[in-house]
Amino acid sequence: MILSKEETFSLSEMEALQSERLHSSIKRVYENVPSYREKMNAAHLTPDDVKSVADISKLPFTTKDDLRVNYPYGLFAVDKSKLQRIHASSGTTGKPTVVGYTKHDLEVWTECVARIAAMGGATGDDICQIAFGYGMFTGALGLHYGLERLGAAIVPSSSGNTEKQLMYLKDFGVTLLVATPSYGLRIAEVAMQNGFNPKTDFTVRTGLFGSEPMTEAMRAELKKMWGDNFRLTQNYGMSELMGPGVSGECEHFCGMHINTDHFIPEIIDPNKGEPLPAGEHGELVITCITKEALPLIRYRTRDLTRLFTDKCACGRTTVRMDCVTGRSDDMLKIRGVNVFPGQIEEVLLGIDECGPHYELVLTRRNHTDYMEVKVELLPELLTDVFPDLEHLGLKVRTKLKTVLGIDTKVTLASPNTLQRFEGKAKRVTDLRNV
Ligand SMILES: [Zn+2]
Repeated sequence: MILSKEETFSLSEMEALQSERLHSSIKRVYENVPSYREKMNAAHLTPDDVKSVADISKLPFTTKDDLRVNYPYGLFAVDKSKLQRIHASSGTTGKPTVVGYTKHDLEVWTECVARIAAMGGATGDDICQIAFGYGMFTGALGLHYGLERLGAAIVPSSSGNTEKQLMYLKDFGVTLLVATPSYGLRIAEVAMQNGFNPKTDFTVRTGLFGSEPMTEAMRAELKKMWGDNFRLTQNYGMSELMGPGVSGECEHFCGMHINTDHFIPEIIDPNKGEPLPAGEHGELVITCITKEALPLIRYRTRDLTRLFTDKCACGRTTVRMDCVTGRSDDMLKIRGVNVFPGQIEEVLLGIDECGPHYELVLTRRNHTDYMEVKVELLPELLTDVFPDLEHLGLKVRTKLKTVLGIDTKVTLASPNTLQRFEGKAKRVTDLRNV
C-alpha cells in the first residue's frame, strides 16, 4: 500500500519540493549551527548559493567526527527547549552520538517508518513483535511508532531472552517480526532446538529486517528456515539521519525506496569525495531536508551502495538504493588487499555444508597479516570423516581465494559452537594492533 502522494511524485515535482526544502534547511543551519556556518564561510558560500538540488555538491560534507567534536548538542539547529526526544547511538569507544527530535521531527519519523512498513507488507491487522533492543537505540521506538501509525498491534518484546520471544510469537499469534537478520536466524534456530518448526508452528508471515545489511545469501538462508511464504524485506536508516525510515524494500525486492521528499541521496567516491555518475557504486551521502533539531547536510554515511532511478513495478517513483555491501570504514585491509566481510559471507553461504554463522580473526606476525575464517558446519551435513573435512576445508579456502585474491586459514567449527547475536552481529576480531 502506498501511503503518501510524495512517493509517486514525478521527477520534476520531487525536484521542486527538494529544492525548496533544501534551500530552507541550509538557511536554518547557516543561521543556527555555528560550526556549519564556519564551513560554509570557508567555502565562500551563503544560503543563497544553494537554490536547487543541482547546487548540493557545492556544500561541505558533515562527518561522524563533526558529531563527536560538537558533542552533545553542538550541531542542533533548535534550542533545547524545543526537543521532545533524545536518542544516542552506542559508541564502542568514548562518547555516544547524540541525536534529538522536535515534535515535528517525531511526526515525520513516524510517517517515514509507516511508509516503509507498508511497503514491506505491514497492515493495520498485523500483530508485530519488535525484537530490537528498546532504549537509546533508535530502531525499536522508530518501528514501534511507525507500525502503530498503520493501526497494527505492537508486542514490544525487545531483544534477548529468545525462549520468551518464541512464547510470544506462538501464544500471541504474531504475524510480523522486526529484528536484525542475525537475530532472525537465531530465533529460528532456538525454535528448532525447542522442537518447533518455524515454517508451520508460527503465524509470522512478514519480516521487517534492519539495523545491519542483509545480503541475498542471508535472505535465502532466512527463508530456508522460516519458509518461502515469509515475506522478508530489509530497510535502512541510521540514528544520525533519523533512525529507521530512510529507505525500505517493497514487494518487488529491487532496492530500497528512499523517502526522497525528506532525504536527498548522493553517491560519492569515498576516497576523493567527488560525486559519481548515476548507477555507480560508492559511498552514500544523505542530506536531511525536513529535520528541525538535527538537519545534517551532506552526511557521509560510510555505507557503500548504489542508486537506482528506473521505474519500480510497485508504482512508487522514488529513487532506490541497493543493499549496503560494506562500510568504507569497515573495509579490512589485509596484506594491502581490500576485503569486505560481506564478500566472505556470500562465499560461505554459497557452500552447501556451511551454515550462516562465521567469524573472522585477523592477526599479524612478522609484519604480515593473516586472516582466519571460522565457519560453522550445518548439523545435517556434518561429517566426521577426516579426509572429507580436509577436502571441504580446502574447497572453502579455494573459493575464498578466488573471490578475495588472498589466502586465508579456514577452520571448520562444529554446529552451535560460534557466538550468536541478539542485535547487530559482530563477526570481525582484529588483533593486529593489540
Ligand atoms: Zn517498489
